[in-house]
Amino acid sequence: MIQIKDLHKSYHMGSNSLHVLKGINFNVKEGELVSIMGSSGSGKSTLLNVLGMLDEADKGSYTLDNVPIKNLNEKIAANYRNKFLGFIFQSFNLINYKSALDNVALPLYYQGVNRKERVEKAMYYLDKVGLAPWSHHLPNELSGGQKQRVAIARALASDPKVLLADEPTGALDTKTSHEVMDLIQGINDDGKTILIVTHELDIANMTKRIVNLKDGVIIDDNFVEQVRASQYV
Ligand code: ATP
Ligand code: MG
Repeated sequence: MIQIKDLHKSYHMGSNSLHVLKGINFNVKEGELVSIMGSSGSGKSTLLNVLGMLDEADKGSYTLDNVPIKNLNEKIAANYRNKFLGFIFQSFNLINYKSALDNVALPLYYQGVNRKERVEKAMYYLDKVGLAPWSHHLPNELSGGQKQRVAIARALASDPKVLLADEPTGALDTKTSHEVMDLIQGINDDGKTILIVTHELDIANMTKRIVNLKDGVIIDDNFVEQVRASQYV
């Protein structure tokens, strides 16, 4: 589903530049649940932004669902982004004056889906995250965990190929974090390919594969079973 080869990315500020991604290589198969770990500043969000087509790499290749992502004009990029990708953020990024239902329906509006179908689909996904009874509530009437569930339903609404989540549990307490991760695991069990950025080991341990980033390079890429098994060798 995802192929990345020798990816580099620098940020330029005036005459200074900061080399953040220094040759990233990895592949993600359809249906995988992968966490990307690493300390603050290691380049996790930068990598996720490139994967999410929110930013472009300087060098290297990125192929998403067999489509090479390079030098696309903004309109084509936006089309691919809508079709291929769903985003989940630490701070939920819900629209505060819109109901849970309208938040979930919004990406469908941008895709030109008619109102009846938007409402049906939005209700379907709200139900999937356990929030159907809250559909007419505003985000500030919901708990953090409920807000993230709405955001997850919104990310699912357009049935993207890949879900990208940057610190999805970063603003939640431990119990709620685990509940949200249970939900994410369930969505993965249904077949969705999911990448999660986190710096919490207990969250990463809930995924099958952990990619470890340090100073812009991958220093580890392990399936959790192997990591656990190797502890007994
Ligand atoms: P955190 O765990 O704190 O979220 P991260 O691993 O997500 O960290 P990035 O946000 O990818 O790290 O940042 C990597 C480096 O690039 C940091 O040194 C950061 O200051 C720098 N950086 C990130 N975004 C920009 C930007 N838009 N312009 C300039 N520098 C940036
Ligand atoms: Mg980050």
